[in-house]
Amino acid sequence: MQEIHRADVAIIGAGFSGSLTAMILSRIGLRTLLLERERHPRFALGEASTPFANLVLQQLAQRYDLPAIAPLAKFGPWKRAYPHLPTWRKRGFSFFRHHAHRPFLPTPNHAEELLVAASPKDETSDTHWHRPSFDAFLVEQAQALGIPYFDETETTLRQIEPEWILSCDRHGRRFEVRSRFVIDASGPGGFLTRALELPSSAEAMRTRSRSVFTHLVGVRSWEAILRRQGAWIEHYPYQCDHSTLHHVFDGGWMWVIPFDNGITSVGLMLDTDHWHDIESLSAEEQWRMVTSRYPSIAEQFENAQPVEPWRKTGRLQRRTARLCGPNWVLLPHAAYALDALFSIGNGHTLLGIERLAKSLQGHWGRETLTKALERDAEVLQDEIQFNDSLIRACYLSFRDFRLFAATSMMYFAGAHAAELARCETEKAKDRQFLSSQVVAFASAVREAADRLDRIHDEAGIFDYEAWVRAAIAPVNFGGFADPSRYNLYPCQ
Ligand SMILES: Cc1cc2nc3c(=O)[nH]c(=O)nc-3n(C[C@H](O)[C@H](O)[C@H](O)COP(=O)(O)OP(=O)(O)OC[C@H]3O[C@@H](n4cnc5c(N)ncnc54)[C@H](O)[C@@H]3O)c2cc1C
Repeated sequence: MQEIHRADVAIIGAGFSGSLTAMILSRIGLRTLLLERERHPRFALGEASTPFANLVLQQLAQRYDLPAIAPLAKFGPWKRAYPHLPTWRKRGFSFFRHHAHRPFLPTPNHAEELLVAASPKDETSDTHWHRPSFDAFLVEQAQALGIPYFDETETTLRQIEPEWILSCDRHGRRFEVRSRFVIDASGPGGFLTRALELPSSAEAMRTRSRSVFTHLVGVRSWEAILRRQGAWIEHYPYQCDHSTLHHVFDGGWMWVIPFDNGITSVGLMLDTDHWHDIESLSAEEQWRMVTSRYPSIAEQFENAQPVEPWRKTGRLQRRTARLCGPNWVLLPHAAYALDALFSIGNGHTLLGIERLAKSLQGHWGRETLTKALERDAEVLQDEIQFNDSLIRACYLSFRDFRLFAATSMMYFAGAHAAELARCETEKAKDRQFLSSQVVAFASAVREAADRLDRIHDEAGIFDYEAWVRAAIAPVNFGGFADPSRYNLYPCQ
């Protein structure tokens, strides 16, 4: 006889979002089950948290009584509770602009440096998530709550109405999962997008970037290189090695995300048009080609060795046009991918989990569920469009650091205002992602790319900076875009 597992909700994908969603739903009384194609620990991107992501994580842990998860929201509690779990203190976002064949040139007014603090001290600081360990930990926590977990399982869709029937194969052992609802947490795996042949709306996205990445050991301290270059690091709001480091250059940027197990995650994000010529090279060749062009970057990685294979992607942007049905839903990373800039992804994913939990809790078993899911999907689609406009504008700004510093203020002001709103008001807080619900601000973000296309001289840059200051005014509660700060923003 066929082995059958029954659940209210089957979750496809046991990355951090699948496991966390499963735990939350089990707390609200739904029987869940996790199906994962791979086996933990496995490599994953999405390693830098943000104040917004950590606030949502902390609030979810409190609201749904998940005490084992709560310490992960801040560096101090994390290290005390789970000293074995690799992380890093992320005190802020640090950006440095590089020019081809020239070492990084610091200046006393920090003209090509931007450091924005996210927390005042290590204890409350954000973190880096070593996703192989982080995700393995979460799935263990889900199992500890009694949630059935099937890894290394190939899942195919057999039926969707009146109940879901999923055919599963784990090393030749076949079984069936029957559930009333399915959540797609498979990220780029795109389980439901494929199974239900959902249409794509990626062509409308304006960002066009691709990535080359791996994990390295032996990465040198960027602060030591800066010190040798004579940088005025005593002005910085935090030690810049204790942050997510971004090297910015023509047509792209690079992330440097260290962990306390000696591993550093690195990745290039390249504009597909600007870096078209090297696209056919292997991932490692592209890495060498780009880093060797910038001497200070090359110095930081001269002794580094990969501990994972080099990987490369094609154009990263994907977006599914339909995000839910009466008995199914896509979590944000299954719904879309954009770019790693500003570490937007995990915060958005956590917000998606929060909304879904509220909708399922409030409407489970009622006809109103479909409407609630559709409302959530509509908001998510608006936010995706907002994020895309913002990131596209940043790519157009990389050519001049003054432009980038100005454009990035749209992210920092929007994110900071959303964090304040989340701390202060219970009402409607699930609509606050990067403050994209503020109409005048969102329309300015949409307009930024077109304005950037029209800037050709110093006067144009000056006008753009003034325009950004006015555009962010409705959400600027942190004194952002202030010329007297010289690109250094201490914690608010
Ligand atoms: C280049 C890049 C860099 C990024 N950097 C950051 C960052 O620094 N900070 C940040 O906040 N966000 C970042 N993101 C976004 C981040 O990756 C996502 O927010 C995060 O991974 C979402 O987690 P998840 O659990 O939903 O999906 P995933 O981490 O993708 O997990 C999906 C899981 O589903 C499984 N799966 C896939 N297909 C199937 C299937 N058919 N059946 C069963 N299981 C399946 C996979 O094996 C995997 O375990 C980045 C994204 C990219 C592309």
